[in-house]
Amino acid sequence: MLYDIIIIGGGCAGLTAAIYAARAGKEVLVFESDAVGGQISTSPKVENFPSIKQISGAEFSDNLLAQATSFGAKLIAEKVAEIKDGETKTVITSGGEYECKRLIIATGVKHRKLGADGEEDYEGKGVSYCAVCDGMFFRDADVAVIGGGDSAVITSLYLSNICKKVYHIHRRDEFRAESYRVNELKTKSNVELVLSSNISSFEGDDFLQAVIVENVNTKEQRKLEIDGLFISIGYSPDSEIFKDVIALDNEGYIIAGEDCKTSADGIYAAGDCRTKSLRQLTTAAADGSVAAVSASADI
Ligand SMILES: Cc1cc2nc3c(=O)[nH]c(=O)nc-3n(C[C@H](O)[C@H](O)[C@H](O)COP(=O)(O)OP(=O)(O)OC[C@H]3O[C@@H](n4cnc5c(N)ncnc54)[C@H](O)[C@@H]3O)c2cc1C
Repeated sequence: MLYDIIIIGGGCAGLTAAIYAARAGKEVLVFESDAVGGQISTSPKVENFPSIKQISGAEFSDNLLAQATSFGAKLIAEKVAEIKDGETKTVITSGGEYECKRLIIATGVKHRKLGADGEEDYEGKGVSYCAVCDGMFFRDADVAVIGGGDSAVITSLYLSNICKKVYHIHRRDEFRAESYRVNELKTKSNVELVLSSNISSFEGDDFLQAVIVENVNTKEQRKLEIDGLFISIGYSPDSEIFKDVIALDNEGYIIAGEDCKTSADGIYAAGDCRTKSLRQLTTAAADGSVAAVSASADI
């Protein structure tokens, strides 16, 4: 079957695109390889989406999917491995090959790794990138979180309710995160801030047992005995598979402006995966609608 529009990614951008394209009467297929709703699906609360005073990320995601499918968009839980450009576009997934007239890429971003020695050895053995997914494995344990942005602070706040002790490591002495979140973190009696510090090494046997942190100013080292480390140092785009078909910038973001058009005709990029200055739900939704209206216009 030749679909009008295939959308890769079932986050806020992809599912908003699906709503607009399906309401325009197009045959729409969305591929999602992981959690429907994307990054926001694990956030405990969203308070800055216009007209919704407060909602959990999980409910926001469920609503998005229900809205998109109510207009006829179909979602398949498969990972896209490759795309090909031609008279029609080919999307190759773990489950087969699909053809479409227009393609919208809305693959968002993925967790950035520290790149420290030992990180990969302890992945799933104490090192995690998702507190909502793995936090419960560390009930009443001592853990550390590393990072200075909103995600890192949200992670520590979440873990402070589950774990005995949370060390919050950050390489600077000030946070990038919103100040109200940082202030809340400072009120938690079981959270200790370890500022101006980096992780220099990991220690353990089969499972992580400690990290050595080094103060960036004094070079003084300290051993933190922990059962788990949550790495929350930002995101990078998941766009490697598109590099032979469309232009990417040097960080791997898909080069596309406010019109969401990429370097290839009929292929659009929407949401966090494209070059832009603000990566939020509102801007992801805006891109999804722009890309879908543009993609729907001439088919
Ligand atoms: C903890 C946290 C809290 C946040 N809080 C807020 C907030 O309060 N307000 C706000 O506005 N923003 C918030 N954000 C940012 C917001 O979530 C993002 O800007 C938004 O999710 C971007 O949407 P997206 O659709 O572009 O990408 P994503 O949400 O990243 O969705 C992309 C989807 O594509 C899928 N995908 C990737 N590659 C493939 C592939 N090859 N095949 C199939 N599927 C694929 C992924 O699995 C993912 O589900 C938060 C982010 C985090 C992590």
